[in-house]
Amino acid sequence: MLFDERPKERREDLFDREAELAAIMDNINRPLLVLSGVRRIGKTSLLLVALNELGHDYILIDARELKANYGRRDLYSLLSKALSSRLSRLADVLKGVRGVNIMGNYVEISWRGRDYISLAELFDALNRRRLIVAIDEAQRLRGPMGAELREALAHAYDYDRNLTFVLTGSEVGLLHELIGVDDPSSPLYGRYYHEVQLGRFSEDQSAEFLRRGFEEVGLKVSEEVIDEMVRLFDGIPGWLTFAGNQYLAARSLEEVRERAIGVALRELENLVEEKSRASPSAGRRYRLALKCIAEDRNSWSSLKRCVEEGEGVTISSSVLNNVLRTLERLSIVKDYEFLDPVYKEATRRLR
Ligand code: ADP
Ligand code: MG
Repeated sequence: MLFDERPKERREDLFDREAELAAIMDNINRPLLVLSGVRRIGKTSLLLVALNELGHDYILIDARELKANYGRRDLYSLLSKALSSRLSRLADVLKGVRGVNIMGNYVEISWRGRDYISLAELFDALNRRRLIVAIDEAQRLRGPMGAELREALAHAYDYDRNLTFVLTGSEVGLLHELIGVDDPSSPLYGRYYHEVQLGRFSEDQSAEFLRRGFEEVGLKVSEEVIDEMVRLFDGIPGWLTFAGNQYLAARSLEEVRERAIGVALRELENLVEEKSRASPSAGRRYRLALKCIAEDRNSWSSLKRCVEEGEGVTISSSVLNNVLRTLERLSIVKDYEFLDPVYKEATRRLR
């Protein structure tokens, strides 16, 4: 079912992505793969389908669950969860590893104390057999444990020949920073990794996706409606899926559009709120910068003027530059344009 809102798991439910799947298959024996692309582009779906197709043992760590200031215990409990859910396949590998204890169907990992096991030691233990370690939205691991994770990844890269790490990330700049390939002080600096970039569907593919989706649920929809959806959602499969579902429920394009904007608006409000928590003036600046970019102030001087007019304060170029760079690292904006048209619309309503 194309309009199923969960990430797809089976190849027959995945629309296109043949080339991307093949790229994963061809490179799965490398130590490190990265799947990158904006929110809702289909990274988790591609990852799950690939894991199923490959048939290797794997663990899947969902880093979205981590808070910004997470600690070692939080990370280890994610690892416990990931190992526990694949325990039937991994019990023999985990048995006898110091610091790892199988209790019924749960894998306990000692995150401190006498039996403490480091991340690198844990990877070495898992290396007894071929295993894929997938980390979804891996940029969330930045922060307090980021450096140690990077060290452990670098160690596994060099020594754990049976392990392949597959990282996905929506915030592509942040993901690259986590890996640190461009940072000479990073232990992974200069190491090769294979990156699969997920792009948008073309207009034809988007229309085909919608036609097939509606056909599957037995709803006849005019070409005008399809065309309008294609125009609104700019080839992003997650929005197309959302639109299909909402149209089924509401049968009104205007309603679909409003609901999508509502979803994006909540995500933007969370971002601004997070920045405000750091400092209220930062929150204000992010909001203003976003709104100015949504008004097509798409050059440096025009953006700066717009933010200064909004604040009634002259603002330093380095401060504004920081804001802009952060929006780019979060994959919200690139070259003064929104990467997602729904975000652009939602920004106009940001208060
Ligand atoms: P991401 O992890 O990049 O945010 P997801 O894999 O969660 O994206 O996909 C977002 C939504 O779009 C989900 O509802 C998913 O089912 C759908 N989707 C994404 N890519 C495809 C695809 N190639 N074929 C069918 N559905 C897709
Ligand atoms: Mg995802």
